[in-house]
Amino acid sequence: MGCLCNIHTNLIDDTIFRMQSELVIIGGGLAGCEAAWQAANRGISVILYEMRPQKMTEAHKTALLGELVCSNSLGSTHTTNGSGLLFNEMKVFNSLICMVAEETAVPAGSALAVDRNQFAERLTNLLTNHPLIKIIHEEVVSIPQEPCIIASGPLTSPAFITALQNFHGEKNLFFYDAIAPIVEADSIDMQTVFLGSRYGKGESDEGDYLNCPLDKETYEAFVEQLISAQQINLKPYEEQITQGVDAGFGHFFEGCLPIEILARRGINTLIYGPLRPVGLRKSYKGTPPYAIIQLRQDDISQTTYNLVGFQTNLTFSEQKRVFRMIPGLQNAEFVRYGQMHRNTFLFAPSLINQNLQAIHRADLFFAGQLIGVEGYLGNAATGLVAGINAANLLKQKPLLIFPKETMIGALCFYVSHAEKETFQPMKANFGLLPPITPRIRNKGDRKIAYSNRSLKMIKGIYTKEP
Ligand SMILES: Cc1cc2nc3c(=O)[nH]c(=O)nc-3n(C[C@H](O)[C@H](O)[C@H](O)COP(=O)(O)OP(=O)(O)OC[C@H]3O[C@@H](n4cnc5c(N)ncnc54)[C@H](O)[C@@H]3O)c2cc1C
Repeated sequence: MGCLCNIHTNLIDDTIFRMQSELVIIGGGLAGCEAAWQAANRGISVILYEMRPQKMTEAHKTALLGELVCSNSLGSTHTTNGSGLLFNEMKVFNSLICMVAEETAVPAGSALAVDRNQFAERLTNLLTNHPLIKIIHEEVVSIPQEPCIIASGPLTSPAFITALQNFHGEKNLFFYDAIAPIVEADSIDMQTVFLGSRYGKGESDEGDYLNCPLDKETYEAFVEQLISAQQINLKPYEEQITQGVDAGFGHFFEGCLPIEILARRGINTLIYGPLRPVGLRKSYKGTPPYAIIQLRQDDISQTTYNLVGFQTNLTFSEQKRVFRMIPGLQNAEFVRYGQMHRNTFLFAPSLINQNLQAIHRADLFFAGQLIGVEGYLGNAATGLVAGINAANLLKQKPLLIFPKETMIGALCFYVSHAEKETFQPMKANFGLLPPITPRIRNKGDRKIAYSNRSLKMIKGIYTKEP
């Protein structure tokens, strides 16, 4: 009898534990996947809601979790780069996104780029087979009563945006990004382009990028056509949303401006931006290129390349016409054209604290692009923080505040403390970290010192994690 009672008691305990430790996560993107992994690996049962394929976003193409919608680059792995430091910090916490990125990496100079299909397939596989994670492909339209992480991303479904607006009583801020085109490798004129990575940072001896060299005359003719080419008209509701946000370029995120908008700022803007001819061999066929357009490998089998920095909102026929003016792309076949897209984020500083916990509801967490973090890795990093903290809350352990000296902590601090009036999405960068005193004059040495300080702290936190 006593034995049966014990079993019964254990069952009740198990049920109570299960009830207490169930976590709902909304959004199977980079943030949601990382959050699910971190929470489940801490013993929490996770229900992960992803609305695709039942309801698709404007940019996603598959039902896979963690689908990368534009570039296949996750930044860098070098600790002297903002996203690289973030990558190394996240690895200390056994990040799922970092692990899968390494497994599915393609050569990309000093950048960390992945085969986008393999990346998303592997993520989906690992999460689907995790014993504590249940994936439900359904749109969520209201904020759950259960402990929850909201990571529905920049393309959050309209019905859920309404739920979010009702919850925190403030209007969302909308703005726009644009995605870059991808061309077939076979259609690139390999006699014209040349291999090379800026400043020789590549896996192969010659470099990992294909470079299209432009002389002054070709560059100017290209810019002239670029700025006068026809753009896709905004839909009426998009017109409405963008009205009043900014009279100039402001409804685009500054770090992801369409190439034609950048070009309109002045004839030389592109040669100081994505088309800068620096860091590559000084001369090509005897003359230094006036401008360079870089193509980055987009898949492991090297069948496709994306045009680096060529986010655009030109009509598809105009993209074909104007981008075929680029030397080497005269016969380019486009696998995907560039597009402009909606990007939604909340006024995070008035909504969440540094743990990424809602100010007005302790068991509600936010993560990802929705709280104004920019960049694949940055978004995954906030998923990591939200996943750990939601798990700690459910297990009645203290929440983890990552210090501002770490890149993870600096991003969380930024989104929870930035000035509301000027709040803009932010990606990992050294400018977010508190200075080291006395100031180290040499920039390279300074970054190394920042990284050393951060990684030492991160390892300390990980070792002491409750
Ligand atoms: C078109 C486009 C291009 C971009 N290009 C880049 C780039 O090149 N580099 C870069 O670093 N960043 C880019 N970004 C930003 C990019 O979205 C983020 O870096 C990253 O994907 C954000 O991760 P996330 O998890 O917050 O959102 P996502 O990765 O978008 O994941 C959110 C998930 O939530 C799901 N979802 C939405 N609403 C609901 C709902 N109501 N119920 C259930 N599920 C829901 C969505 O289907 C999606 O899978 C781009 C964004 C867009 C939209």
